[in-house]
Amino acid sequence: MKLPIYAYGHPVLRKETEEIEEDYPDLKVLLDNMFETMYYSKGMGIAAPQIGKNIRIFIIDTLQLDKEERDETASEFIREVFINPIILDESGKKWEYEEGCLSIPDVRGNVFRHPQVRIEYYDAEFKLIDKVFDGITARVIQHEYDHLEGVLFVDLLKPLKKRFVKKKLEKIRKGIVDANYKMIFHR
Ligand code: ZN
Repeated sequence: MKLPIYAYGHPVLRKETEEIEEDYPDLKVLLDNMFETMYYSKGMGIAAPQIGKNIRIFIIDTLQLDKEERDETASEFIREVFINPIILDESGKKWEYEEGCLSIPDVRGNVFRHPQVRIEYYDAEFKLIDKVFDGITARVIQHEYDHLEGVLFVDLLKPLKKRFVKKKLEKIRKGIVDANYKMIFHR
């Protein structure tokens, strides 16, 4: 089932998130719905707050990247579920890349992030994993992880760019936006 995506300005995107237990009700259905929603809205990742849930889950799929894009950016591309993740370390010289977000349609901007991330998490089968990712895969992980901390990529833009996107953000907040998926606005 496709789920509506909560838009910029909705408080659910800024709230603290809670860890879940293995017996979280209908976890499998929730994860299936998150994947369906992500693919339908053409995202590379989606975090639980974006579908209105303040729990520590995000999913990513960097396998969707075209072959050319894949070559240079990371040593591994994955389709993975991250439950109760903790970033243990970030390293390497920060690199710049243009990001977007399903909760913030039509806004893109360059964000600096470390190229390597070490993260501990439970996968869909609740197996504990401790692993290092790099390149674009690391970046998508960092972006989605930020959602669990109430941080949005527009918070990380340079001041000048922030001013530049301010009007667009205000429009989204008011529900004036053209997305080809269903969104929920704060009213
Ligand atoms: Zn996002």
